[in-house]
Order: sequence, then structure tokens, then C-alpha cells
Amino acid sequence: MLDVLIIGAGPVGLACALECQRKGLSSTIVEKGALVNSIVGYPTNMEFFSTPDLLEIGGYPFPTAHYKPLREDALDYYQRVARSEKLDIRLHEKVLKLDGEQGDFTVSTDKGEIRTRNVVVATGFYDLPNLLGVPGEDLPHVSHYYKEPYQHVLQHVVVIGAKNSSAKAALQMTRAGAKVTLIARGPEVSNSVKYWIRPDLVNRIAEGRITAHFNTAVTAIRPEAIEVLTPDGPLTIPTDFVYALTGYLPDEALLSRLGVQPNPADEARAPLFDPATHETTRPGLFVAGTVCGGRATSRWFIENGRHHAQLIAAYLAK
Ligand SMILES: Cc1cc2nc3c(=O)[nH]c(=O)nc-3n(C[C@H](O)[C@H](O)[C@H](O)COP(=O)(O)OP(=O)(O)OC[C@H]3O[C@@H](n4cnc5c(N)ncnc54)[C@H](O)[C@@H]3O)c2cc1C
Repeated sequence: MLDVLIIGAGPVGLACALECQRKGLSSTIVEKGALVNSIVGYPTNMEFFSTPDLLEIGGYPFPTAHYKPLREDALDYYQRVARSEKLDIRLHEKVLKLDGEQGDFTVSTDKGEIRTRNVVVATGFYDLPNLLGVPGEDLPHVSHYYKEPYQHVLQHVVVIGAKNSSAKAALQMTRAGAKVTLIARGPEVSNSVKYWIRPDLVNRIAEGRITAHFNTAVTAIRPEAIEVLTPDGPLTIPTDFVYALTGYLPDEALLSRLGVQPNPADEARAPLFDPATHETTRPGLFVAGTVCGGRATSRWFIENGRHHAQLIAAYLAK
């Protein structure tokens, strides 16, 4: 019987295990993919927006050669912390449901059952893309995850979305010799794009290196082209590849199976939880990290979400 089982080995799940362990609580993390699976999926050499000190967990310094760490720096940092603390982690094991009550929960995974007194849900948001819901979205040349530009050199690529991920992907592919067209529902490049990225994109659009269609909706994707509706009418844009970088959603079906209730007063359907302890309405079941924001996936991130770990561990230790 464990004291705490943590679902998800993202930065926040690791922080939770580490803080619980330091309070003398027995803990195990169950992770359906690799260690820090979301970061593994981020673009190659992606630069974090945060400085390294704001991504640190457990007081371990995060030294980097750069002002902002790269994805590879973070992968290295978090695996070092996990191994230094000898955290107990079961990788490539997916949590399916939760039975029982505080003090005697049974967590069912695709590999078996684990008994625990308490459960922390730190499942993040990166697994389910926010789908466009148009015909052709499931074609093999459409992806909701951008990795790197080199397969698109001398190709026509459409990027859907005008936030940070789309902006960075469009700029990177343009510089690697792809011809990029940006499609955005809004009237301009989003104001939420980081202040050091936005002018770069706006200027590349102004000089014609990137073609942009604003106030435009995608209506269908075909193998060789994408159909859009612009303010001037329908348009067919020939393309070799489409990146629909329109955000991601938390796994609400999983949260419901675990017994995490959404707040009916919150548009983003964030879980109902006590902000002082992060305990949900189901006693002994806690939420931590990005999942606390529901569909508002930028409400909690590593910088602020990592602090949930101390609150939960301190409460459980009492
Ligand atoms: C491109 C990009 C850049 C970013 N840059 C920054 C930045 O500069 N600074 C910052 O603070 N934040 C940044 N973020 C946000 C940050 O990465 C996330 O907020 C962070 O990963 C949240 O950590 P987490 O531990 O809550 O969730 P995650 O890191 O998403 O971890 C959740 C884990 O739970 C696992 N899981 C899910 N379901 C199950 C299940 N059923 N069973 C077992 N395991 C499961 C997942 O596989 C995953 O490993 C960025 C995000 C993106 C997409």
C-alpha cells in the first residue's frame, strides 16, 4: 500500500514525487509514455520561453549554456533529477481508472492494479489535439505536432494557427527553404505570441516571404490542397504538408473516470479543487500542474505549476 500514486511523469509529476519522498511518504509515478513524455514530443531544439531557474524542481540547479534552455537541456535536467532522487517510476504504463476511497484506492492500469492511500493527477494536456473537425484532417500529410523543418525543404507547407507554436514553426520552416502559408481565424498574429517572436513573423509576412490569410477558416483538407474560406471567398491552396497547430486539450474522459469534477462556473472546465491543498471533491484525489487549468492550458505551466508539489506533499504529510 503506497502513500501516494502520481499519474504522469511530467515536470510537475516528478516534483510531486520528489516532495512527497522528502516528507517520508512512499510514492510511485505511473507514466504512460517516456519520462517527461510531453517534452520528448516538443520540436527538436525548441527553446523554452522560461529561463532555467524557473523550470527547476526540488531545488536542483539547472545550469545551461544558453539564456533560455533548449528541449534537450530540459530532457537531460529532468532525467538527472529523477535518477538522483531515485524516484520510483513505472514507464509505458497507462492509468485507466480509479476505484475505492481515500486510504484504500485501487488504481487500474493497462498492466495491473496498484493500491494506494492517495492519488495525484498530473496528466498535463499534450496528448489530445484540439481538432479542426474538417474533412481530411486525418490524412497522412496532416499533423498536429511539429518536430523539425528539414523534411519540408523546397515544399509548400500550410500552418494553421497564429500563436506561439505556429509562429515558431512557420519561421523555422521558412528559413529552412520551405514555402509557408499561414492560416488564422483571427484578424492578425495573436498578441499572445512572445514579444521577441511576433515582430519576426509580422515582418516576414510584410515582406512576402510568408503568405498569411487572416479571418480565414479551413473547410477541408485534400491530399494535394487545402480549402479555406477567406473574407474574399473560398480559396484552394496547393500544399505538400499541413500543420494544424491549434492547441491541445486535457483528457476529460480520463479525468471523469478518475472522479475529478469540472467546475461548472469555469468556461475552461477546470477541475474543482481546494487551492490551498489541491485536493479535489473526491477526498484523497489531488490535481497538480497544467491539468488544474482545464481547457485553459496556458493558465498553469511548469513555472507556476511546479509549486503545487509542495502544497500537496505538506498537506499529505500532516
Ligand atoms: C512548445 C511548448 C513550449 C513550452 N514552453 C514552456 C516554457 O518555456 N515554460 C513553461 O513553464 N512551460 C512551457 N510549456 C508548458 C509546459 O511544457 C507544460 O505546462 C508542462 O509540460 C506541464 O507539466 P505537467 O507535468 O503538468 O504535464 P506534462 O508535462 O504534460 O506531463 C503529463 C504526463 O502525464 C502523462 N499521462 C497522461 N495521461 C496518462 C495516463 N492515463 N496514465 C499515465 N500517464 C499519463 C503524459 O504522458 C505526460 O508525460 C511549453 C509547452 C509547449 C507545448
